[in-house]
Amino acid sequence: MTTNEIQHPARVVEAIHMGNISLVTAPLKQVRIDGGFWGRLMEVNRRVTLPIQYQQCKETGRIDAFKLERQSGGQPNEWCIPWDSDVGKWIEAAALSLATHPDAELEQCVDGVIDLIAKAQQPDGYLNTYFTVVAPAKRWTNLRDWHELYCAGHLTEGAVAYFEATGKRKFLDVMCRYVDYIGTVFGPRPGQKRGYCGHEEIELALVKLYRATNEPRYLDLAKYFIDERGQQPHYFDLEAQARGEDPGKFWAVTYQYNQSHLPVREQREATGHAVRAMYLYCGMADVAAATGDETLLAACRRLWINLVHKQMHITGGLGPTHANEGFTQDYDLPNEGAYLETCAAIGLVFWAQRMVNAELDGQYSDVLERALYNGTISGFALDGKSFFYGNPLAAQPGFDGKARFVAKNYHYRRSEWFGCACCPPNIARMIAQFPSFLYSTAANELAVHHYSQSQAQLAVAGQTISITQTTDYPWDEKIVLTIQPERAATWTLAVRIPGWCRGAKLQVNGEAVEPLIKKGYAILKREWLAGDRVTLVLPMPVEQIEAHPSARQDCGRVALQRGPVVYCLEAVDNGGNLNDILLPANPAFTIQRGKSGIFAGVPRISAKTHRRNVSEWKGELYRPQGSSRQMACNITAIPYFMWGNRAPGEMLVWIRAAEARRHLV
Ligand SMILES: [Zn+2]
Repeated sequence: MTTNEIQHPARVVEAIHMGNISLVTAPLKQVRIDGGFWGRLMEVNRRVTLPIQYQQCKETGRIDAFKLERQSGGQPNEWCIPWDSDVGKWIEAAALSLATHPDAELEQCVDGVIDLIAKAQQPDGYLNTYFTVVAPAKRWTNLRDWHELYCAGHLTEGAVAYFEATGKRKFLDVMCRYVDYIGTVFGPRPGQKRGYCGHEEIELALVKLYRATNEPRYLDLAKYFIDERGQQPHYFDLEAQARGEDPGKFWAVTYQYNQSHLPVREQREATGHAVRAMYLYCGMADVAAATGDETLLAACRRLWINLVHKQMHITGGLGPTHANEGFTQDYDLPNEGAYLETCAAIGLVFWAQRMVNAELDGQYSDVLERALYNGTISGFALDGKSFFYGNPLAAQPGFDGKARFVAKNYHYRRSEWFGCACCPPNIARMIAQFPSFLYSTAANELAVHHYSQSQAQLAVAGQTISITQTTDYPWDEKIVLTIQPERAATWTLAVRIPGWCRGAKLQVNGEAVEPLIKKGYAILKREWLAGDRVTLVLPMPVEQIEAHPSARQDCGRVALQRGPVVYCLEAVDNGGNLNDILLPANPAFTIQRGKSGIFAGVPRISAKTHRRNVSEWKGELYRPQGSSRQMACNITAIPYFMWGNRAPGEMLVWIRAAEARRHLV
């Protein structure tokens, strides 16, 4: 027995190893969230975002596209290949919301869209508006670029979510028919195409379809797509030749772009288009979990390590460059102009959730939480009406999110919609499914991954356990879990201690306990009785975070973080020239909570700092150093995800650190 396995005198707590038990996500319907941080976001999503996104899909022609008519006049936008995926994702978002908050009007609206989709299905089962109406001769001729299977994946996810929310099978049956047809076209058998999609997504969707229907052929097809990826001869080469193109002239240059440069088990670095990468890794983790394939899980672990140790922004944002909407090289973590698509951070959330179910390890939940409170919801305006596609960590007037000069008076801001509209319905479906991030269960285990005011009924130890969280997380450090089993029984509660937290305190029924902390989870095995209370206190001082020395863009800078929330400076609070602000070594941070408006209850961070006096500059661009004096000033930092919701202007996450902060060694 090692020292940290020694039992605390509070003998009710027993350390056990959770071992390699595979956990499953608690069903969305079983977790109820009203009020609190996420209750508010979910309500805005439900009341504002879902209706306006439906309207956008309608007005842009995405929904009417399923009528399979080339419209004259009534269709303001050019028919685009990924349109079907936007509708699939919106249906999924609506379904996930219906699962926790039934709404007859919304359900009727979704039913109407599903009726249209069902009528668009071709006699052979095929279902894609673009390739049915606009380019019928080009069906399955360019999997590399044309998102055909990707669209099928999102429609499938929508169908599964709607079936699970409402019990209605119509859309599910439509998608089963389509996928059955896809299964005749693709695969290793003679006469089949040995293809797979350039934009991964169908793999994870097929595993969802398998779980919803128990049909092993859907899992087999997912496994085929994963295993075939990157094999030689390379399918995208053969396909390009069949189109009469030179495969060497791929516009994205390398198959790293779509993660088909190597078979997936040989990939060791996250490469290429970041959203594609995340969806592939989700599919790999799903197939690994469903088949018990350790080699696939090992590949996921290697990719994870590279990603989170060398290629992830502090917000959980992924993919620094617009050029490939994706990864460049290790430690390239630019701030201004960083691309960091909302969908990529959402994909990271989805992948992390799968990894923590495969092996209970807080590193996955820590990253999930980082993305959740920072780089995903930054893409969502507080009023739920507009969205970011890219989420840079610094912004300057005049420059767009890609750090390109656009116009003198331009301010990077959220948009109501996009021509390629993947991000808006993606953030809507992530917010709607937030309750499913909180818990996972196994036969005799209940893992608590995340904290939110909530109420859940979960199947553990052969009975239904009711568990209530009372908390104002992420703003407040205290969380009370109240447990109401049907009957007394012994089982294990694994409570996550966030990696950002130092000095967490845990009590069971008011008595301090020091359980074994195994990979970031406090393991509490005991006989749980009705009304047992677990109190967790996670101290949240303001931390100054620094980046690895190889992260050149952050050298000499610090980011402010409180709890899981990363902060930023905005011009509306601090004036312009944010890069001129110097944070002293040990500033006395003060926390102010707003009384009303968007900052009601939200802690803002203030500190005394200094900067040069701009009024001393008389128009010269350069002058000898030492002639300007520093002047004292106060700064106010707000949560990064809230930026861009007030007056437009500069924004900055990584603040310059004053000299002489560190002792030389
Ligand atoms: Zn997107």
